[in-house]
Amino acid sequence: MPLLSMTSLLRHALDGGYAVGYFEAWNLESLLAVKDAAEAAESPVIIGFNGKFLGNRHRRVKEIIDHYGSLGRSVAEHARVPIALILNEAYEPALLQAALDAGFNVVMHDHEGCSLEQSIQINISLVRAAHAVGAEVEAELGELPAWDIGEKKMSAGIATDPGEAERFVTMTGVDALAVAVGNVHILEGRKSRLDLDLLAQLRKRIRIPLVLHGGTGIEKDDLKAAIAAGICKVNVGTALRRTFINSMKGYFQKHDADILDPGEVTSTGGELDMLAAARADVAAEVVRLMRIFGSVKKAGA
Ligand SMILES: [Zn+2]
Repeated sequence: MPLLSMTSLLRHALDGGYAVGYFEAWNLESLLAVKDAAEAAESPVIIGFNGKFLGNRHRRVKEIIDHYGSLGRSVAEHARVPIALILNEAYEPALLQAALDAGFNVVMHDHEGCSLEQSIQINISLVRAAHAVGAEVEAELGELPAWDIGEKKMSAGIATDPGEAERFVTMTGVDALAVAVGNVHILEGRKSRLDLDLLAQLRKRIRIPLVLHGGTGIEKDDLKAAIAAGICKVNVGTALRRTFINSMKGYFQKHDADILDPGEVTSTGGELDMLAAARADVAAEVVRLMRIFGSVKKAGA
């Protein structure tokens, strides 16, 4: 079906007491894995890519964002479940505009290093540009701590202030707000605890859908409590990338690729295809998370 607006999916979720997952892709297999999962679970879903990664200036090849937009739209059009398509967390306004031109129907600015006033100004312009083409804007207020796996250290975060959030939403007109309530970016090996009181205060003052980034590192019970308290979108990236890596590692432990037909290993999609195996493993992880989010069998809602 054609792309649906993210807020229409999220309003249904809020009414139904569940959350829609944004499962971040990085290539064709991961994108299709999310679609496979959503169809198997009969769940609405948000698909997309990360603007910080696609726009990373250290990439060996500069990416053309239009490829990713076309890919996402095509996947949505062929899917049997409702889908919205986001370019998540892009720094550069030019990249966000390119994403709107490429047909992403949600964009999000990454505000790291911006003052509140800068972030307000950027989001005012972004909302104007997005709404003009029927797209929507997610923004983040406060700052999630991030886990550094090498250093085993957490950066300091800034919890979202309810009064500031209310002012931000009113001034910018953004469509969804990501909040920092104890959730942590890229957290593995341990779980963060959420400040559910702060979330309840935010919910009272903010009328637009609230979003939790850092879904990988949140305790299952906390996630469920946050969804009950009004979170209707949860972002997951790290858990899917880790699943993909582990699948490839497992493949090479099990098979000697040196004596296999390279076509079988990479291209046929059959039993010996490592990319097909990774796609299936990622899809299984997405279905597992959809069960926790409560979105299974909500595609027709
Ligand atoms: Zn994030």
